[in-house]
Amino acid sequence: MATPYSAGLVWFRRDLRADDHAALQQALRACASVHAAFVFDSAILDGLPRPDRRVEFIRDAAAMLDDDLRALGGPGRGLIALHGDAAEAIPRLAAQLGVQAVFANHDDDPAALARDDCVRERLARAGIALHTFKDHVVFERAEIRTQAGQPYSVFTPYARAWLARVDPADLAPFEVAAHARRLAPRPREWDHAVPGLEELGFAPSNLRATGVRPGATGAQETLRAFLQRIDRYDAQRDRPALAATSGLSVHLRFGTVSIRDLVRQARALDGSGAATWLKELVWREFYFQVLANFPQVGRGESFRPAYDRIAWDQGAQADARFAAWCEGRTGYPLVDAAMRQLNTTGFMHNRLRMVTASFLCKDLGLDWRRGERWFAERLIDYELASNNGGWQWASSSGCDAQPWFRIFNPLTQSERFDPQGDFIRHYVPELAQLPAALLHAPWQAKPVDLAAAGLSLGRDYPLPIVDHAQARAQTLARYAVVKA
Ligand code: FAD
Repeated sequence: MATPYSAGLVWFRRDLRADDHAALQQALRACASVHAAFVFDSAILDGLPRPDRRVEFIRDAAAMLDDDLRALGGPGRGLIALHGDAAEAIPRLAAQLGVQAVFANHDDDPAALARDDCVRERLARAGIALHTFKDHVVFERAEIRTQAGQPYSVFTPYARAWLARVDPADLAPFEVAAHARRLAPRPREWDHAVPGLEELGFAPSNLRATGVRPGATGAQETLRAFLQRIDRYDAQRDRPALAATSGLSVHLRFGTVSIRDLVRQARALDGSGAATWLKELVWREFYFQVLANFPQVGRGESFRPAYDRIAWDQGAQADARFAAWCEGRTGYPLVDAAMRQLNTTGFMHNRLRMVTASFLCKDLGLDWRRGERWFAERLIDYELASNNGGWQWASSSGCDAQPWFRIFNPLTQSERFDPQGDFIRHYVPELAQLPAALLHAPWQAKPVDLAAAGLSLGRDYPLPIVDHAQARAQTLARYAVVKA
């Protein structure tokens, strides 16, 4: 095969695996010799708390990628790991290595697109090309359109079009092994291991204790375990106590698993479990295409502009309610359990993301953007497109969102999705002695039952900070402005 470039550089970002990798495959085909690099980007890292589970996940995934590249290309190969501003570090490294082209996979986060524009310009000044490829989704940007050529804003027809269009050719793996011998030995100057967390200025987190297995190996283990129970997915996925979902979102976020691999596996299986799970993967693609086609949502605007007329509560009392929500002390056990799950593990079950998001805007009367930010800072799988999509769904302001007059009842949700209270007991241990029938609404329990459970409300666990029926009426009045 012709190799137009004598040397190239693959810049890994949110695609921390060495197989089925579009940019790596293209570089190996186009260059006689290929270097690989990852930058611990100070433009992102500097603003993060220490410890941060995501940094630990990325660090470990990069170290595993380093090993995998060596296994693929032979001794002396590996990842060039840098720490600094990626927008400066990559053009500098490319020039030092004397490559003619840099290869990377698309990252459609607005901040990443701006960074890439900057890198492209700096590389161009040095006569170096930047080639980017679709890798993190099956269909991106404008690939799936309505018959009128417009982007979809409703999920069901989008999913129908997506499922009708997908073809084995869209899912074929980007094989890299055939040309792996073109991986270049790591020059002496950069021939060192991926820095440890401390070297990056971070303290260790409880990542592993939460059950997350980092790296491409961890992704495959997580996937294998999930495939054993995928038949139960449809029936159990809304039950947070059952761990029925895949737990793969962090791997999709950082590309330690290939989306093509997941879609191939889901399509190869019969049954409603695999079919429903495939639809969830399509939800992910739906929100990516919403962000790509309606970039204003990433700038904090409601997808439906009328919803920006809503007057959210502000001031000291609103701030106090927000703090109670953040810390898991609203007095609504399922909401509190969910918020504590987020704070202690960096993960929250999908049903609970919907419940807590709805609770923030429709029970507490607070701007959904405050909750969106809190999730963004804490979720290990934080993804602008899905997080924004989920929050705009819950606040009714987004694409194909929950109608504004439909308001989740936190009590009904609790009884329905955590019927025995196992999830609540785990994260709100002060309620653990209450029988299931009383656990969802302890404020309704008789004093004798509270005493039997060793519980004094207001002392051991808060009374509800809002009354749901009253809050519901206020929300309907607040949202009435969108009708005008
Ligand atoms: P599974 O049920 O196994 O689903 C498989 C994959 O499908 C997930 O890993 C994810 O990539 C995708 N998926 C599933 N549900 C959704 C959905 N509703 N929207 C988009 N993709 C979906 N997901 C994120 O990856 N990052 C986020 O920042 C994020 N923020 C959210 C905020 C809110 C308010 C809501 C309601 C949802 C959010 N989601 C987000 C979607 C969903 O909650 C998570 O993807 C899911 O809980 C991850 O667990 P899992 O991998 O076990 O999911």
